Amino acid sequence: MVARVIPVEEFDLVIFGGTGDLARRKILPGLFRRYRSGQMPEGARIIGAARSDMSADEYRQMIAEAVAEFGGEESADKDGLDGFLRNLDYVPIDAKGTGGWDALAAKVRQDVVQAFYFSVAPSLFGDLAERLHTNRIANSESRIVVEKPFGRDLESARALNGTLAEHFDESQIYRIDHYLGKETVQNLMAVRFGNVLFEPLWNNHYLDHIQITVAETVGVGGRGAYYDKSGAMRDMVQNHLMQLLCLIAMEPPSKFGADAVRDEKLKVIRALEPVDSHHIVRGQYDESSDGPSYREDVENPRSFTESFIAMRCHISNWRWAGVPFYLRTGKRMKGRSSEIAVVFKDLGHSIFEGDEARHRNILAIRLQPNEGMDLQVTIKEPGPGGMRLVDVPLDMTFADALGDHEIEEADAYERLIMDVIRGNQTLFMRGDEVEAAWQWTDPLIAGWEARNDVPKHYEAGSAGPEDAMMLMHRDGRRWREIKG
Ligand code: NAD
Repeated sequence: MVARVIPVEEFDLVIFGGTGDLARRKILPGLFRRYRSGQMPEGARIIGAARSDMSADEYRQMIAEAVAEFGGEESADKDGLDGFLRNLDYVPIDAKGTGGWDALAAKVRQDVVQAFYFSVAPSLFGDLAERLHTNRIANSESRIVVEKPFGRDLESARALNGTLAEHFDESQIYRIDHYLGKETVQNLMAVRFGNVLFEPLWNNHYLDHIQITVAETVGVGGRGAYYDKSGAMRDMVQNHLMQLLCLIAMEPPSKFGADAVRDEKLKVIRALEPVDSHHIVRGQYDESSDGPSYREDVENPRSFTESFIAMRCHISNWRWAGVPFYLRTGKRMKGRSSEIAVVFKDLGHSIFEGDEARHRNILAIRLQPNEGMDLQVTIKEPGPGGMRLVDVPLDMTFADALGDHEIEEADAYERLIMDVIRGNQTLFMRGDEVEAAWQWTDPLIAGWEARNDVPKHYEAGSAGPEDAMMLMHRDGRRWREIKG
């Protein structure tokens, strides 16, 4: 089957922070893959803009090395890479001063789609937005892309939204959450709203609970100073896990359009109940044979910041009354695995004699590794010997049916950047969503700060602190195993 791709128009994409880690690791290798798959129109241009004083040729060299390192197998295509690099340009720029802005103004065209990727610290967003206007580079059609962290609490998020709103309309702002760019996350919406099978069961009559796990094996690495001021709640739950929860819990939007989808997500966030402190478990990883402890990593022996959090949430509306959402995320865990599990209720009564096992349908949506979905169903164990039941996964990845190229693992970033160029905001967070998420998060953080809550220790390479297991056990449930 040949992939159908929605074409993109000619564009100028300026990447502020074009020499930074994110640009080199994700954005440019992703754009290279889009170029190779023929999605970058003739005449599209990518302009790196950053503090370093270098020529366009030196920049191309830097990006060639980045693509070789992070671009996957496709980076071996020498001709493709040369072609891609020809679309690249560079302007040294001072976000806080005047240097470089005239040169940028001379390069950016006004008669094609314009996008400005703010891959810099949020403290520079206001400077960039202002200078794009005073130098008459941006216009009323331009799009800007901003990265997390989008504030560290409601107040700072409001301030950041306010700063951007001084220069850009909400319809021009693309707040990126790369979890929303994942194939499976989009497939979740297709499965929910494109089939008659699931939606009638998607409520408190048939679902027992939902689990969302985002487990990482890495520690805080070189981001210690930043991470210690943030913690798992701000770094992961307020944005990524919250977005996943919204897609699971939202009502069917009237159409698959940006505001229709985001209105429904917003309603979910607003319906989230405050979480009782007994339903939150925070943890910090201990040292192990293959790495230092969290406190050593962040060089703060008295840190109370969490590198792990598990919590039980409730959404107060008719659909979800009584259905807990268990969220869990952490660093230095036993596997790198992100998964949403929709766990159906037990059968009220089994007609099969001697069937003591508890058979449950589970829809597991894997974000990594091996993006895909499977539905655990109960069938008869094949062969003679009586009626014995067994649970098997019904693989819904459908790789065979669709062909590999259709579901190739295009990185989330590159899909989202192409959506920016197409002007499709559906998979980007709206300002009010971000603020509502902080409004729910802030009191929880304030609560544990006021209590001087000390995170529980957990063994690196484990599934988190014992108390997180207890959070589920107390409810007669258990976490799914972290694989990967
Ligand atoms: P980085 O420190 O590696 O790069 C920063 C970039 O900003 C450099 O290109 C630098 O030249 C430029 N810059 C800094 N000050 C400037 C100035 N005054 N004028 C012009 N350019 C200036 O940062 P990064 O890791 O690439 O992160 C960029 C943004 O993306 C940050 O907001 C970060 O929080 C966010 N982010 C990064 C990652 C990641 O994986 N690196 C993931 C998610 C979000």
